[in-house]
Amino acid sequence: MVVVVVGAGPVGLMLASELVRSGVRPVVLEALPSPSVAPKANGVVGLAVPLLYDRGLFPRRGPAPRFMYGGFPLDLRRLPDNPVYVQPVPQRSLESVLASHAGVPVRRGHTVVGLRPASSGVTVSVSGPAGSYTIDASYVVGCDGAHSRVRKAAGIGFPGVSDSRVVSRSAHVSLPLSFRLGRHRPYLFHRTPHGVFSYARFGRGPHLVTTLEWSSPVDSDAPVTLDEVRLSLGRVLGRSVRLGAPSGPGPHVLRRSTARQNRIASSYVSGRVLLAGDAAHVVAGFGGPLLNLGLLDAVDLAPRLASNDVSGYDAARRPWAERVLASSAEQAALLSPGAETDARRAEFARYLATPSGLRRVASTIAGG
Ligand SMILES: Cc1cc2nc3c(=O)[nH]c(=O)nc-3n(C[C@H](O)[C@H](O)[C@H](O)COP(=O)(O)OP(=O)(O)OC[C@H]3O[C@@H](n4cnc5c(N)ncnc54)[C@H](O)[C@@H]3O)c2cc1C
Repeated sequence: MVVVVVGAGPVGLMLASELVRSGVRPVVLEALPSPSVAPKANGVVGLAVPLLYDRGLFPRRGPAPRFMYGGFPLDLRRLPDNPVYVQPVPQRSLESVLASHAGVPVRRGHTVVGLRPASSGVTVSVSGPAGSYTIDASYVVGCDGAHSRVRKAAGIGFPGVSDSRVVSRSAHVSLPLSFRLGRHRPYLFHRTPHGVFSYARFGRGPHLVTTLEWSSPVDSDAPVTLDEVRLSLGRVLGRSVRLGAPSGPGPHVLRRSTARQNRIASSYVSGRVLLAGDAAHVVAGFGGPLLNLGLLDAVDLAPRLASNDVSGYDAARRPWAERVLASSAEQAALLSPGAETDARRAEFARYLATPSGLRRVASTIAGG
């Protein structure tokens, strides 16, 4: 059986290594000539983490004593069976660990440009460094990210919404000591009457500041600047903060998002073409749910491919993406400004104080 995995991001690499574990050596195609160094995820949160431990990829750690949800700090030590695991790791390090573990070569600089149904599978057209070629595959799995060419080539829809009510901005910065010693704790979302902000430091890198504003002046065509992030933080806090340029090696984060995408593929399976990870779902999540979702797609899919029966994949995985979508909407509603949200938050705080409320939220964060 020939399984072609398109994309060597975290999900494609996880799928490759799980396939090898199930006795199938896939062909892994990756458009980029070398691994991306763009700063993306800072960690994995949820039930994928103990799976990474089981595979020997990271030293085992216990569940996280604290986390956050909708701007509420959570004391997870209250739960006897806390399911929230966190593995802090920059995405590029995760990809490098997964690539070594997978034990199959990645064909770098090989871009999938088209798919054609064949008698017992799919013909994959590839543009590689030495020219174009085709592969006759039994299955093709698109792990090729949010703009998935595989999804489009298979004619699979990507319905959902692009929410432009919230403007989010993030930047690596140097933060004054007075701010770090102030009353706002790191790693939490802080809601003010004017928006939301958070700051955090991952490893030895610079501080990452993020703001969310529901009505914010924005020129979407202008390149984002550190000054824009500083002004946004000032509006959210109601006072100005001296943000300096980050020190240390880059690349550094400096970004603005004016359209939060929430989409799930209309099907995860179309004949012999399947989707996993961001190709199957993108959610403007809070607290980093996407790697968990995508890595667990891969873990679910590999044995199904190996046993040549993928019929249950969509039904098994779609509900988890829908759950992340619902939780993201709930958290956005809990973080938005206004008196209605104040009332909703007071009610939610009472809910979180109950063991069943905390357990439900922890299980949502853990995902599956
Ligand atoms: C700034 C930022 C911060 C984030 N922070 C977090 C976080 O803290 N926690 C979290 O869980 N998630 C986070 N995410 C989301 C997380 O990065 C994604 O969910 C994750 O990258 C999805 O992995 P993937 O393998 O599905 O897709 P991708 O990582 O997008 O990988 C897809 C791969 O496919 C390749 N490809 C594309 N088209 C083709 C083609 N035609 N042929 C061959 N190869 C192709 C691409 O080059 C790429 O390498 C963040 C994302 C961003 C942008």
